[in-house]
Amino acid sequence: MSSTQSVTRRILRNPNTVVSTCQAKQLHAQIVKARATPHSHSLAWLCIIKCYVAHGLLRHSLAAFNLMRASGVCPHRHAFPSLLKASTLLKHFPLAQSLHASAIRLGFHFDLYTANALMNVYSKFHSHNVFDQFSQTLQYHNNYNNTNSDNNNFAVKIDCVRKVFDRMPVRDVVSWNTVIAGNAQNGMYEEALDMVREMGRQNLRPDSFTLSSVLPIFAEHVDVIKGKEIHGYAVRHGFDKDVFIGSSLIDMYAKCTHVELSVRAFYLLSNRDAISWNSIIAGCVQNGRFDQGLGFFRLMLTEKVKPMQVSFSSVVPACAHLTALNLGKQLHGYIIRLGFNGNKFIASSLVDMYAKCGNIKMARYIFDRIEMRERDMVSWTAIIMGCAMHGHALDAVSLFEMMLVDGVKPCYVSFIGVLTACNHSGLVDEGWKYFNSMKSEFGIAPGLEHYAAVADLLGRAGRLEEAYDFISNMAVEPTGSVWSALLAACRAHKNIELAEKVVDKVLLVDPENMGAYVMMSNIYSAAQRWRDAAKLRVNMRKKGLKKTPGCSWIEVGNKVHTFLAGDESHPYYDKINEALSILLEQMEKEGYVLDTKEVLHDVDEEHKRNLLRTHSERLAIAFGIISTTAGTTIRVIKNIRVCVDCHTAIKFMAKIVGREIIVRDNSRFHHFRNGSCSCGDYW
Ligand SMILES: [Zn+2]
Ligand SMILES: [Zn+2]
Repeated sequence: MSSTQSVTRRILRNPNTVVSTCQAKQLHAQIVKARATPHSHSLAWLCIIKCYVAHGLLRHSLAAFNLMRASGVCPHRHAFPSLLKASTLLKHFPLAQSLHASAIRLGFHFDLYTANALMNVYSKFHSHNVFDQFSQTLQYHNNYNNTNSDNNNFAVKIDCVRKVFDRMPVRDVVSWNTVIAGNAQNGMYEEALDMVREMGRQNLRPDSFTLSSVLPIFAEHVDVIKGKEIHGYAVRHGFDKDVFIGSSLIDMYAKCTHVELSVRAFYLLSNRDAISWNSIIAGCVQNGRFDQGLGFFRLMLTEKVKPMQVSFSSVVPACAHLTALNLGKQLHGYIIRLGFNGNKFIASSLVDMYAKCGNIKMARYIFDRIEMRERDMVSWTAIIMGCAMHGHALDAVSLFEMMLVDGVKPCYVSFIGVLTACNHSGLVDEGWKYFNSMKSEFGIAPGLEHYAAVADLLGRAGRLEEAYDFISNMAVEPTGSVWSALLAACRAHKNIELAEKVVDKVLLVDPENMGAYVMMSNIYSAAQRWRDAAKLRVNMRKKGLKKTPGCSWIEVGNKVHTFLAGDESHPYYDKINEALSILLEQMEKEGYVLDTKEVLHDVDEEHKRNLLRTHSERLAIAFGIISTTAGTTIRVIKNIRVCVDCHTAIKFMAKIVGREIIVRDNSRFHHFRNGSCSCGDYW
């Protein structure tokens, strides 16, 4: 007898020693060959099946089951949980159903472990992702008649879990947990909570698994009071130190906007794993605490916890919000080192981050490298919106068309992107086409942003009356800014009568709109109606209206420097001032003429010159010029619109210093290069 055979014999005598797939395969072959007597070998078959499943040989395990049945062996009662696990891993729902049928025929569906496994399978197939694959599988198998009734199917499958559960003669905590988690994961919150109560009535104590299924329910319902009750229960029963419960608590408090409680729950955890770190980082970012979220990320790295892919889905958007380009670049480098750059969610967030931080080229570079089939609505929208904000209107429109060709359905935000792009490049007909297709083709009701873009588009094209009617008949209440855009168009096209009507509309919805007063007074001044202009300014002063103070930021050497208009507090103020003087001299030589139209203070010309000279973006740009090496792109962010004079001035500055200057104001990016701006002077 060869040594292989002797090993096999030994294993056959004591199947519990099967530990490797190789042994399982030998045993498998031996049983088939020997046609050994069935009854003694149900345990051997069980070991083979379990071993195959444990080593990921899922199809082998099912083949073994079929052979076992064909040879007339009745399966061991523990075989079904393993086989059901295999069917779940294979994402093969019909297979799970036929195993269920076998279990019923053999009477194993009353067995506690088999019934628990069955419930587990049915609830796994509910959850959305698997469900999609499930319906695809069904379509593939072509025995699925009613593809439209997703909801019906959903209900049927929820019902399956419940049916198995109801028929169980004995239930343990695992059975309850499965049915509760199944309900919770599928949004049936009330049912899940009812079952927790019922569990208590049956004298079974919820464990940490039950609690971590229930906590997301309160997060979803933003019910912090009930969430706190569960927290109390967890503390009383010593579950609060459990890392799963801890993470669920952090999530729950964050979703209920009580981030400080999330932070406290986080610090109380004695063991923190990558999941709890993710929860706290995501919690901070979701609540707009970007700095704090990034702070936790840094702390996580210093504590030597390796970030997961999802960690980056929180921190990269935080950089985008803070327009912290340098930090974003560092994160990008780290993502590449960890090999996460192939992840489409991370790639989309990088596209968005680079676009928002002013580097549209890099955004496009990353987008172009996302594989075609991986591009989804999020990545397309990020790049379309980015191009639109940067004034690359034609790119934005052609990307939008490519997305449609690719079969990706546009969303609310992608329409904002494409309409903004049409607006910036004066594509009136295209704009109309996209606007009309929103509702008719894609069933998306246009919102304020879409109406505003179309109204602005009509106004810019000089179709002022049409724009006026369009805004008057909007399905949503127009805001002051929608009317203000038309007011700007009236100024550009010198239509005073309509401007007067429009300014009334602005002040009706937004009586404190300083910009409207300024613009109207400029319209009067341009038409040399000085008296009307003066009257308006007096009115404005009576109301005590003040302009929002301009504020600009620039990131130099990993530090963000903030400048207010006329701000002398920066430690390098003297140098900045000197640089501005030198620049101004050169600018005037090149033909720059100061435009004081938008300065409203009743002060002499000299003072006006000074006010303009120290607008916050000029201070920031001058600081950028003196503190970075020649040729470096200067990126400045401003909280409000850039004034006409600064816009002209920056064009001269960019040309004189031979650099690209990128200014992001409250709605778009201006790329100043070689004496002109990407916005084509329309902003
Ligand atoms: Zn200015
Ligand atoms: Zn511009």
